Amino acid sequence: MSSEVKNIHEFDFEVICDYYAAMERQGPGSNDVTIKALSFVEGLTNASKIVDLGCGTGGQTITLANHAKGDILGIDIFPKFIEIFNQNVALRNLSHRVKGNVGSMGELTFLENEIDLFWSEGAIYNIGFENGINSWRKYLKKGAHIAVSEVSWFTENRPDEINTFWTDAYPEIDTIPNKMAQIQKAGYIPVASFILPEICWTENFYLPQVKIQDDFLNKYKGNKMAIDLVENQRHEAALYHKYKDYYGYVFYIAKKI
Ligand code: SAH
Repeated sequence: MSSEVKNIHEFDFEVICDYYAAMERQGPGSNDVTIKALSFVEGLTNASKIVDLGCGTGGQTITLANHAKGDILGIDIFPKFIEIFNQNVALRNLSHRVKGNVGSMGELTFLENEIDLFWSEGAIYNIGFENGINSWRKYLKKGAHIAVSEVSWFTENRPDEINTFWTDAYPEIDTIPNKMAQIQKAGYIPVASFILPEICWTENFYLPQVKIQDDFLNKYKGNKMAIDLVENQRHEAALYHKYKDYYGYVFYIAKKI
């Protein structure tokens, strides 16, 4: 079955966007996890510049805004997500500190040594983990942090089915020590890493999808791409339940040397 299931990158952007726009989060995570990752970041002040890359509709950005000092710029490639992001921010009276812009995390235009914190939950894989941490580094001030979450292997060896699925979907998936070594090599001090609790996938990511899937399939009745997308997500969820001992999301927090 896995050979018939498509890689998420093969789906039409608009259909994917519509699917995920209905959800508070577009990737695995939780408020507690965002707050925990933030606890490893030192030195933020009201003047700090924080950038949330691949912010989606801003679930984690709002949490960040409520617990971190400084101004936050959210960047996402999908205009519809940014529209919802800015509505969410306005609803919470955070517009004076938090703003969303459409843009690509692969083509940033900040000044060198300008940014105090790059945040990115479940999104750096879009340009590749190593490319992301290396290309963003120059924009950070010395001693500033990155905090990113990334799918990672928990074990050296995995059953073939899950190994093949994830290596196909994201060839850069790797073990936690290897990711930490990449961070060190890129010119950061690896400050911390921790595994996201299972509920970040089950209750917070896959369950909200189950709730919207029927409506989504009705809306796109007969649309092969929409049907494939739902099937793909159902397959990924089933694999997660079967193989969650072998992989998951990991938060990596690092400091620019
Ligand atoms: N951080 C959010 C969204 C994660 S999903 C959360 O945890 O809920 C990944 C996000 O990355 C999506 O919103 C997608 O639109 C965005 N994205 C994909 N490629 C991108 C790129 N090149 N630049 C910026 N955002 C991108």
